[in-house]
Amino acid sequence: MSELVLVIDFGGQYNQLIARRVRENHVYTEIVSYTKAMDAIREKKPVGLILTGGPNSVYLPDSATIDPAIFSLGIPVLGICYGAQLMSHLLGGHVSHAPEREYGKTEVLVDKDSELFHDVSRNTICWMSHNDFIDTPAPGFTITAHTENCPVAAAEDASRGLYLVQFHPEVLHTQEGSKMLSNFVYRVCGCKGDWKMDSFVETSVRSLREKIGAGRVLCALSGGVDSSVAAVMLAKAVGKQLTCVFVDHGLLRKDEGDEVEAVFGPNGAYDLNFVRVNAQQRFYDKLAGVEEPEKKRKIIGEEFIRVFEEEAKKIGAVDFLVQGTIYPDVVESGLGGESAVIKSHHNVGGLPDCVDFKEIVEPLRDLFKDEVRAAGRELGLPETLVSRQPFPGPGLAVRIIGEVTPEKVKMVQEADAIFREEVAKAGAEKGLGQYFAALTNMRSVGVMGDERTYDYAVALRAVLTTDFMTAESAQIPWEVLSVVTSRIVNEVPHVNRVLYDCTGKPPATIEFE
Ligand code: GLN
Repeated sequence: MSELVLVIDFGGQYNQLIARRVRENHVYTEIVSYTKAMDAIREKKPVGLILTGGPNSVYLPDSATIDPAIFSLGIPVLGICYGAQLMSHLLGGHVSHAPEREYGKTEVLVDKDSELFHDVSRNTICWMSHNDFIDTPAPGFTITAHTENCPVAAAEDASRGLYLVQFHPEVLHTQEGSKMLSNFVYRVCGCKGDWKMDSFVETSVRSLREKIGAGRVLCALSGGVDSSVAAVMLAKAVGKQLTCVFVDHGLLRKDEGDEVEAVFGPNGAYDLNFVRVNAQQRFYDKLAGVEEPEKKRKIIGEEFIRVFEEEAKKIGAVDFLVQGTIYPDVVESGLGGESAVIKSHHNVGGLPDCVDFKEIVEPLRDLFKDEVRAAGRELGLPETLVSRQPFPGPGLAVRIIGEVTPEKVKMVQEADAIFREEVAKAGAEKGLGQYFAALTNMRSVGVMGDERTYDYAVALRAVLTTDFMTAESAQIPWEVLSVVTSRIVNEVPHVNRVLYDCTGKPPATIEFE
């Protein structure tokens, strides 16, 4: 058996990223809940342990914790964020609410030589996401790094193999994070790195074929990257046993319905059974008067399923529903092990309790966006489709803050089309992970043609990200923003103000709701 590093889950948003970064370093990892950690250690004999981040505060009575014996098993431990705080708390240090919280990009200053920071710059950009901090490290620990606001950004007791970092080495925005994790597994845990990943596409196609047999399958296709990759993978596995159903819920971007039909419909490049359902009105009716974001997501999730059930009845004897769910949907919906609910993705946390399919199949459930794109390329999907910017299943409903009305949909569609057109015209889309317009629910006073207006504000957002777990706001050239602004206020009725969102993730999310 390969050497194993065990990731102990305390509910962090980035746990799968920790596992992925370690695997990318050719060391096998598994994630286990903190409640089962001791048993798993006994059974699996890991060579290293990583304690993840998490939403709790270690000093509160009901917070996730672990048997402190874990620190004297002779197995090296790396604590990340909550894991770092917990290690300090359990070993006699002190953690409290930080006077200066840190979210997102932070400069970390490495003060001492450490195996963890071997070959890492003395000033290194890391991503933070914490409310609490270690004010006093546990006895025996040496502080190895700090930031402007955080005295203990990293500390260690190398003689016991215990290391901790307050920041998140697993996210891509932490510039030298992968090197730090590699240092931990190779230099601290002494791994050899003899593990290799299987081809994801090949293994998945084979197991989908086995699972589905001669059954019929319906795939929920939105035309986005994830569901397109899932659809083409399924078509490869079971051919014409598959029917792709594309629901136009009236919350798509301008002209998007026709674009999806052009690619996947009867005149497109794929030989698929394709059904387009125009369900705009029934979604608008269900959403009328609803303001709360989680409620909107759940209504849309349920309505999607009801449409798919109706379509399945028309085809007859459909057992499986395929969805293009990917890992961030799972973890943000609160279903990734111990993690908190951030938002209910329509296809995960937004699913109704009762679903009329034998099974929901989600071949991409463990992947991040960039891995889905790689799988799409392996399946031969055109680059235009594979590198398309993501679009959420609930569509513009989560880019219209508050109640959704057909008029507001039209406003955000037009504003978004202008933004995309001008960004493309200026050649400014390179490197952008996602960019779009949203309609805030804010109305403010303006003056147009000497008359008072009291109208809506559009927010523009553009972010730099690869895996969509963390993101930075992009610096769109001011000239482009001012052309977009002037076109939006001139061309889109009832918009008199345009704002630019400069927030990263964390603390914001990429979408607004
Ligand atoms: N909840 C803890 C804090 O706010 C840990 C956060 C984390 O692990 N990202 O400091």
